[in-house]
This record gives sequence, C-alpha cells and structure tokens, in this order.
Amino acid sequence: MARYTGPVCKRCRREGQKLFLKGAKCYTEKCPVERRQYPPGHHGPASVRRRKQSDYAVQLREKQKVKRIYGLHEKQFRNLFEYAAGRPGVTGENLIVALESRLDNVIFRMGLAVSRRQARQLVRHRHVKVNGSVVDIPSYRLSVGDEVALRERSRELEPVEVSLGSRSRPQLLDWLALDEKKRVGRVLRQPVRGDIPLAAQEQLIVELYSK
Ligand code: SF4
Repeated sequence: MARYTGPVCKRCRREGQKLFLKGAKCYTEKCPVERRQYPPGHHGPASVRRRKQSDYAVQLREKQKVKRIYGLHEKQFRNLFEYAAGRPGVTGENLIVALESRLDNVIFRMGLAVSRRQARQLVRHRHVKVNGSVVDIPSYRLSVGDEVALRERSRELEPVEVSLGSRSRPQLLDWLALDEKKRVGRVLRQPVRGDIPLAAQEQLIVELYSK
C-alpha cells in the first residue's frame, strides 16, 4: 500500500481530534483541528450535521485513529491485531502494548524524536542500535531489558537535539529509562495498559475486527 504523503493535519481533522502527529510541534503551531472543526474535503462541513454515526462507523473511526497515531498501514495493523489476539490476556490491551513496544514508538517515547514519524526516519536511516547492532526496521518489537541507543555519529543530530531540548517534550514513562547525555535508553519492564497515555477505546477495534 502506498505511503501517505499528504498533510498530516488532515488526518487529525478527519478524526475530529488532535492526534499529535507532529509531536512537539502540535503545541507550538496553530492547530487546524481547533480552527476548522469539521472533516476535510468539500462535504466536510455538511457531514458534521448528518445523522448519528452507526456502531460500525464508530468502531471504524476508532481503529483509524489508533492506526494513524502509530503510523501503520492497514495490513501491518491487522497483522498486529492477529498477533495480539493469539496472546494470552485481553486482546485490546495486548494490541496497545504491542504498538507501544515498536522500536519507532519507544524512540519517540524516550524523547529522541519529536514524533513517531521522525523516529521512524531515524531508524530507517540506520541511526539506531538495539543491543549493540544497527536495526533499521521501525516495527522491530522490543523486549524487557533491550538497550536502544543512537550510533556514535548520530548522537548530535539536529532533530535529536531539538527533540531533547523541547519544552513540550512528554515526560519519560516509568517503564523506560534514558541516559540523555549518552543517548542510550532501556526498556525496564513490559508496559501495561495503565502505563500508556493513549485516549482510545481499544475494545471497539476488537469488535470491528471480530465481525
Ligand atoms: Fe494534528 Fe498536530 Fe496538525 Fe493539530 S497540529 S492537526 S494535532 S498534527
């Protein structure tokens, strides 16, 4: 499936809420969601006046929202759902934990990138090492104890400096550790749903995919 290269703010407007797809920039820039509270497109303003959404539409929008927050394509998201469904425990929670354990997400959560998009680029451009080896797969699933570090030549990259110096940088979650100077972090433990600051109703996604 083709990579989406259009304006990311349209994706927030489609979901009717701020998804913070530009990371820290979303706190400093004028946010289109606040200025235009209707979906993008010619019929956007009219659609907000339409009748109540069906259950299917509510479930679909929730899935699209989470998928867009983590920047996944439908197939990747579906595969992750299948993985989550095959694990013991609650499928919805397993799904969110699996999304959080992705390498690009962990780099973003550590504050080494201002957004997941930027984190993905750091990984794809081979700036990141996991347990001492270069990993260029953003979906790489991290386990407890894994060490995530920037390569020596990449430690002073401008996006990394900007991200670490940003005042709107989110607080480091307590399942992660980071040595800012060395640009080395670690996964301290497996997160649980309560550790993850994500405003989503994952059971709606489970209902959608279980039809
Ligand atoms: Fe979304 Fe950020 Fe754009 Fe607002 S500024 S619409 S939160 S990406």
